[in-house]
Amino acid sequence: MKLDVNVLRYLSKEDFRVLTAVEMGMRNHQIVPAELIDRIAGLKHGGTYKVLKNLLKHKLVHHDSSKYDGFRLTYLGYDFLAIKALVNRGVFVSVGRQIGVGKESDIFEVATEDGTVLAMKLHRLGRVSFRAVKSKRDYLLHRSSYNWLYLSRLAALKEFAFMEALKAHGFPVPAAVDCNRHCVIMSLVQGYPLVQVKQLQNPETVFETIIGLVVRLAEKGLIHCDFNEFNIMIEDDEKVTLIDFPQMVSVSHRNAQMYFDRDVECIFKFFRKRFNLSFHVDQDESGESEFDESGRPRFFAIMKSTDSLDKELAASGFTTKDQDVIEKFIEGGIEQDSENSGDEEIVDEGCLPADIDDTVVYNLNSLHLHGCAVRHDVNDEMQEKQYSNEVSRSN
Ligand code: ADP
Ligand code: MG
Repeated sequence: MKLDVNVLRYLSKEDFRVLTAVEMGMRNHQIVPAELIDRIAGLKHGGTYKVLKNLLKHKLVHHDSSKYDGFRLTYLGYDFLAIKALVNRGVFVSVGRQIGVGKESDIFEVATEDGTVLAMKLHRLGRVSFRAVKSKRDYLLHRSSYNWLYLSRLAALKEFAFMEALKAHGFPVPAAVDCNRHCVIMSLVQGYPLVQVKQLQNPETVFETIIGLVVRLAEKGLIHCDFNEFNIMIEDDEKVTLIDFPQMVSVSHRNAQMYFDRDVECIFKFFRKRFNLSFHVDQDESGESEFDESGRPRFFAIMKSTDSLDKELAASGFTTKDQDVIEKFIEGGIEQDSENSGDEEIVDEGCLPADIDDTVVYNLNSLHLHGCAVRHDVNDEMQEKQYSNEVSRSN
């Protein structure tokens, strides 16, 4: 079945009110009972039930009566809420073509009022198995119960924060523009993922730039963890931009070296295969060079030479040994955490929206939102506040 997202234009204020009520109900219900939605939305004369029917028709909510009668948001419903909030804030006025489908995201072009085209990334954690996600994603480690709304939102938040921080430290990443729910708005990179680039004028230079990035990241205490030809964008002038940050970890992570080496290996393998590059680096006598003879940066050598806080720490009486103890404690905590979560790791499959969204074909072409029904006078956050007040009063 094909669903036109132009529907967004025709949704009324009541539709959004009920949709937001479902979202709020999902903070503590995987399936939100209809009466609760009605109570949160507070529409008169049973209006909520009529609106729910409409939302159901457009696949913005999913009806579930397996345990009790209730509703949950679909990805599409969540998309609409985020898009509307960002449009209300004036971040963009129209949604254009889809430019990327990642493992855990969909990327669209959006345009601002003055015609600037930006990239919109909608996070979709739940598209891949939760177990796989859990083992890979450090932001899950301290949660024992979670759902895809929460995860996608967290992924977006982390991505936004890292993008801003990396930019501030001079890394070539898109400019972070705004973030709402599971949606990140960033500048559009005028290039292609490296995987699509068949030829380079200066493959050595590009290679060195990219390896230099992994090293610089580590020097700042970070590992990308998904550093490969899909997450490196190349522009026509062969400028390199790094994207996709939700999975980054700190160099103090217990698997840091493995992640670091894996990131490096991906790049070496790709450049050897695609551009036939071979590598050799003469070793200095100390044998402590940051690179081994094959040109691969050495994680531990980099860690030694970072402008780390060692000096300041020593002056304050805090030794590297203390540091060691703390790191071990944190790692132990993480291990314990994942052991303890036990059964809770198994997520109620019923809360995964993938089954529904597979049938939804996006058609966002030239959808102009400005001045149409999605613009409301009430700002989204205010609405949320008002709703939460209503919820707490009714409880
Ligand atoms: P995922 O986490 O799902 O892998 P990515 O952030 O890697 O998502 O984005 C998927 C694809 O979308 C990228 O390979 C790229 O082609 C495109 N893309 C993502 N962000 C941008 C951007 N800012 N500008 C241009 N294209 C982008
Ligand atoms: Mg990616």
